[in-house]
Amino acid sequence: MGDIVTVGCSCCTYQKDFQLGTGILYGELSHYLVTSRLSGKAMQDELLGRMESGEYTLCREQLYRCPGCGTLCARFYGEVRGRRRTYQTRHRCHRCNRYLEMLEPAAINGSSCPRCEEGALYYRISGSWD
Ligand SMILES: [Zn+2]
Ligand SMILES: [Zn+2]
Repeated sequence: MGDIVTVGCSCCTYQKDFQLGTGILYGELSHYLVTSRLSGKAMQDELLGRMESGEYTLCREQLYRCPGCGTLCARFYGEVRGRRRTYQTRHRCHRCNRYLEMLEPAAINGSSCPRCEEGALYYRISGSWD
């Protein structure tokens, strides 16, 4: 099961839920997950191609933060490990097109709010999903 993580701000009304981690279908990458959870045909094809030559794959719903505008979002993360190199999906921000940076929920506490920019974010696990 994955966690539903609620992120809120103690200075403004910002609050958002994120489905993170792995549900029942997660673990190894599958054609279904890639085509249903990853947006953009080019990214799907890239990952499906890598899966054929990789030796080991993993995937999860991952929390990201944009280094440009501070937006927080959850995106599908896939990784394919080969003998020499590891391929990882990279996502761009829908608002400002910068590459998003992965973030663990524990790093949220006290970080800056995407809305009011105060360092007043907190998180709690509010449920689970499968
Ligand atoms: Zn705020
Ligand atoms: Zn951005």
